[in-house]
Amino acid sequence: MIHDMSIKTTKLLLALFIFLLGSISPAAAQETKIKWFGHAAFSITTPNGKVLLIDPWLNNPSNPEAKDGKDPLSAIAKADYILLTHGHRDHVGDAVAIARKTGAALICNPELAGNLVKLADFPTKQAETDAIMGIGGEILIADGEVTIAMTPAVHSSSVFNPKAGPNEPERAYGGNPAGFVIIIKNGPTIYHSGDTAYFKDMETIGENYSIDVALLNIGGHFGMEPKMAARAAQAVRARLAIPHHFATFPGILQNAEGFAAELKKMKIDFYEMRPGETITYRGKQQIKGK
Ligand SMILES: [Zn+2]
Repeated sequence: MIHDMSIKTTKLLLALFIFLLGSISPAAAQETKIKWFGHAAFSITTPNGKVLLIDPWLNNPSNPEAKDGKDPLSAIAKADYILLTHGHRDHVGDAVAIARKTGAALICNPELAGNLVKLADFPTKQAETDAIMGIGGEILIADGEVTIAMTPAVHSSSVFNPKAGPNEPERAYGGNPAGFVIIIKNGPTIYHSGDTAYFKDMETIGENYSIDVALLNIGGHFGMEPKMAARAAQAVRARLAIPHHFATFPGILQNAEGFAAELKKMKIDFYEMRPGETITYRGKQQIKGK
């Protein structure tokens, strides 16, 4: 009986300790972290510690965590959601391996989700949740901490089919390409453009959402050239513009200088992240990495 009581007391103390641990450092608890892995791959860690990965091609040549034979997935201890803007290989990247490792739920259009399950062995249960969505829609995830809006993108979308026979197309349908607006409670609102061309209706995104930081593809050739990427920053009314989708491989732009110069003319804040770098927001205020 006494023994039983002491176990109960220990459990109670442990519960109290865990509770106190969770309630200390309220400032840190309000922080949102945005990490760039190179190319279009970002992670977002919310104030409540939920981890979102966007277009997670972690094995891209720019990622310092993928160099010298290192496995970039070893740095991914946790992921709750994987967001895919479209099906191209440089965006789907390591999504399947990450999903298997972490149990993360997929957020993308239904055709891409279906074909990733069928052709790339993406875990079925993680691709068939109510986080599968369409352009124009908004979903609430992470116990209500994050709202995801799927926005249009002018591009294409197909999924590589490793199972294709000699007379079958090796690119299967990937639904419509998209961008995302990610609204974080007690944190910034982030726009990820995917791989889009500039389109004038980006202004609607700027009218509907208050974009604190826009992650914009600037590499040209397959998507926006820097001048139009700057116009995109202006259209979505970004408080801060961060470039991505450049300097990863030959054929796309190798630096962000032109983009920075255009933004300067428009008086829009610019920050160039280094691959592997993390920037931190406290509430809507950027506190580190600038
Ligand atoms: Zn693409």
